[in-house]
Amino acid sequence: MKRIAVFPGSFDPITKGHESVILRSLGLFDTIIVAVGKNAEKKYMFPLEQRIQWIKDVFKNYPAIQVDSYEGLTVEYCKSINAGFILRGLRNAADFEFESSISQMNRKMFPSIETVFMVTLPEYSALSSSIIRDIYRNRGDITPFIPHNVQLPDAK
Ligand code: ADP
Repeated sequence: MKRIAVFPGSFDPITKGHESVILRSLGLFDTIIVAVGKNAEKKYMFPLEQRIQWIKDVFKNYPAIQVDSYEGLTVEYCKSINAGFILRGLRNAADFEFESSISQMNRKMFPSIETVFMVTLPEYSALSSSIIRDIYRNRGDITPFIPHNVQLPDAK
């Protein structure tokens, strides 16, 4: 059985924190699918196609890392592609509280899918897409926080 993991998120935009968790998890899985969730209730800053393209650019030299998008429950998506694992990053206690509840509920729905948590490197523990969006909106320099081959357009 191939060990397929799904790394779900909004990636609005992808950050060095995401990149680091994905690369550090490579040894654990045969394939990691970075899956961009489409949530009609959520307002995104960057279009889906753009977010997907940035992720593809970041991991273009890693055949074990693929990019996809999905709608609906993450566990249903995992089932549809035969993924046995959900990979999530943990930055702090707040992430832990939130993520542990989600993983318990996911287990109730699909006991065969395991959630695996990767603790963030200290240098990325304060990094979030929402803070990056805020800096970007106010025309600050976000280049230290996003992977080097991601180029955001100038803020309006
Ligand atoms: P969501 O909309 O699900 O919060 P995100 O794109 O913000 O999606 O995050 C996707 C995943 O990446 C989550 O597991 C989140 O905990 C993790 N993550 C976010 N920021 C970081 C970071 N700085 N370091 C490590 N993991 C992170």
